[in-house]
Parts: sequence; C-alpha cells; structure tokens
Amino acid sequence: MKAVLDHVGIAVADLGAALAFYRDALGLEIEAPEEVASQRVRAQFVPVGESKLELLEATAPDSAIARYVEKRGPGLHHITLRVDDIHDALAQLNARGVRLIDQQPRPGAEGGLVAFIHPSSAHGVLVELKQSSVVGHQSVSLQASAPSPDAGVRRFTVGELELISLTDGVFRLDGGSMFGTVPKALWEEKTPVDARNRITLAMRPLIVRGARTMLIDAGMGGKDTAAFHEAYAVDRARSLDRAMAEARISPEDIDIVLASHLHFDHAGGFTYRDANGRIRPTFPRAQYIVRRGEWEDATHPHERSRAAYLADNYMPLAEAGVLQLVDEDVTVMPGVRVRRTGGHCMHHQMVLIESKGQTAAYLADLIPTTAHVPDAWIAAYDLYPMDTLGAKKRCVNEAVEKNVLVFFAHDPAIAAGYIQEQDGKRRVVAAPV
Ligand SMILES: [Zn+2]
Ligand SMILES: [Zn+2]
Repeated sequence: MKAVLDHVGIAVADLGAALAFYRDALGLEIEAPEEVASQRVRAQFVPVGESKLELLEATAPDSAIARYVEKRGPGLHHITLRVDDIHDALAQLNARGVRLIDQQPRPGAEGGLVAFIHPSSAHGVLVELKQSSVVGHQSVSLQASAPSPDAGVRRFTVGELELISLTDGVFRLDGGSMFGTVPKALWEEKTPVDARNRITLAMRPLIVRGARTMLIDAGMGGKDTAAFHEAYAVDRARSLDRAMAEARISPEDIDIVLASHLHFDHAGGFTYRDANGRIRPTFPRAQYIVRRGEWEDATHPHERSRAAYLADNYMPLAEAGVLQLVDEDVTVMPGVRVRRTGGHCMHHQMVLIESKGQTAAYLADLIPTTAHVPDAWIAAYDLYPMDTLGAKKRCVNEAVEKNVLVFFAHDPAIAAGYIQEQDGKRRVVAAPV
C-alpha cells in the first residue's frame, strides 16, 4: 500500500504556549486556527514540507483532547496516513488480521473518507487513514483527523476500583413495549418518540478495573445485517471498539467478560466476525462468565424470548472453551459480585461493586433508563414483571439508603447517577464526571 504522511496530531494543554515553541522558537509558518465547536477543540495546522503538524487544544473539559491531556499529559495523539484507495487499504489490513476501529471508512471533512486503526495493532499509536476527495494536498479540519471526541467514555472511582462507562452506540425500540402498562401520554413526556413510535436507547457496557480488568456486557457488536440495523435503527458511530480505543484499553486487556444476560443488545459484542467470516470471541484473553440458567434459556429459547437470543453471540464462546457458567450469586473478583434479579428474564442478574465503603450497581435491564426508576414503569418485554417489581423495590431502597452510584445501561443521556427520594418522590441526580 502506498501511503504519505499527511499530518501528525499533537494534543496540547495551551495552544498559545505551544505556538511559542512551534511558531516562534522553531520559526514555522502557521495556518489560520480552526475551532470545531461540535468537537470542543481548537486545531492549528502547522505545515512542515509535504506534511503538517496539527496542534489540538480542548475548548471544554469534557472534550476527548482534554481527557487525553489530563490522563497522559500533552503529546502525540495520532498520525494520519493518506492513501489512494481507503477501501482497498482496509481490505488489505483486514486480511492480515489488523484490528480496525472503523471496518468501513466514514466521511471526513471536505468530502474525504477516514478510518482509524486500533492502537493495539499499531504498537500504541492511533493511526488514521485518509483518502482525500481531490488529488493533491489539502488542509483538513478536525472532523477528519480525530475520532469522535465524545465516544461516550466516562470515568468513575469506587473506593479502590476504577469504573469506565463506555457505549456501543444507540438503537431504538417500541416506546410502548419499553414502558409496559404506562400510558403513552405519560412516558412521551419523558422520552421523545420517532414517527414509528420508537424511543432511542443507548448501550452502555461498563469496565471495572481492580485486581483484574472486567467488562460487563458488550453492547450489540458489529455482526448484524443491514436489515437488522434498519429494523432497530442501530447507530454504532460510538461503538465499543472506538470507546475502548479512546479509553486506551485494548481487547487483550480484558481478563473477564461478565454477562448480565444474553439478549443481543448486551451480548452481541462478545463475538466478532473475522476476515475469513469465522465468528470468534472479541476479547482473546478473557473468560466469559454467564449464569447457567441464562445459558440454558438462551440455548433453548421459546416463542416469547426467541427474537432476543442470537446464537452467534454466545455459542462460539463455548466452542472456544472460554465460557464459565456460574450457578449462584458469586463474587467475580474482589469487590464485584452478581445478584440474580429475575424479572426481565428468569436469570437476569445485576452487578454490585463495593470498595472502601463505596457502592455502585450495574442494573442492566432491571432499571434500563432513568425514566424506569418509578416502581410501576416496567417494560412489556419483561417475562416476569412482578419479579421485576420486587427486585426493583429492593434495589432502589438500597440505592437511596447507601447512596449507591447506579449505572443505567440503556439511558440515552445519563450513564450513572444517584437515586434520591423525598416525600415519596424519586429523582435521579446525574453523577459528575
Ligand atoms: Zn434484555
Ligand atoms: Zn437490554
């Protein structure tokens, strides 16, 4: 593949101070700075011969560059290689087993196409491939030169454990089905609805880092067909791959994958289809922990549950010998244990995370969004709604009493928050990030 170095992205804490070096001390010419509001970044291109430097300064504390600088300090952020045919380049890389963040190119600035290669395959460097729409050298805006700054990475601390909330994009489900017996007139006030009566739901897997690195659920993954994506209006622009790359965690880092249950919007990312069409575990070193009852139900689905269980998401785990079935409410690693809730499905489980007197809970589909906090707001999808009600009451009481940091696996806006109760009224306060 023929490639030309297009530019080198450098994350800086202070653009003015950076220019004092690159412009004044080195004496380089600069182009006009560009502010990209949607990405909360200011970009300054500095031409150096055939290539450019791109100085990136965050304009808000929640931008990806701000988080990058906070975590690693200023420095090299990415390099961009310009290729003639990006589709061809991706096909070549795929055939060689190179891990890609973008399987398909996506639109960059000025009609160009871009795709990112995972740093784990590029020896620790985030590499962007770029195909310009016009032949020749041109300046690119930040849209084309960094992954979405909000890939949905949110970091929290619970005692000695680090929790990193990620996303695997969004999809839509029928609003009526999501709220069960609650009339549309009520739920519509809380959740916008599309022309097909669907509401938007996020998929939010969670990483817990302690004695080991654990991933709870993995979203929908990338194996599904275009028809499936259309039916559920799937948008994985903020996929788990991309979120993990932004969090600087590679699939090889994951020791344990824990399943709340095996529905496709939680277990789809457990496996992926390789270049030869074979389906393999996504996290090559991980043991996958699944509740035995849920495994039995998923492998013997009935008419009511069949649509949610797709065998490609979990059968390859058994074939690869990485499946570990558990029977009870076990401690998965120090500070992390599961608790069966039932309700949504017979063996649905939540995850309790405790360290140094602090507690967090990953509720999966027990309370999928903040709109589902009131007791009776229970999805029609739930197979055993009265069990959901009981488990929910216990969970909410504990959350209020112990000030538990609660993770909402499907909330489109709030990854985690605290449930407060006053005069019988509940509200959710989003956790600061
Ligand atoms: Zn589910
Ligand atoms: Zn779900």
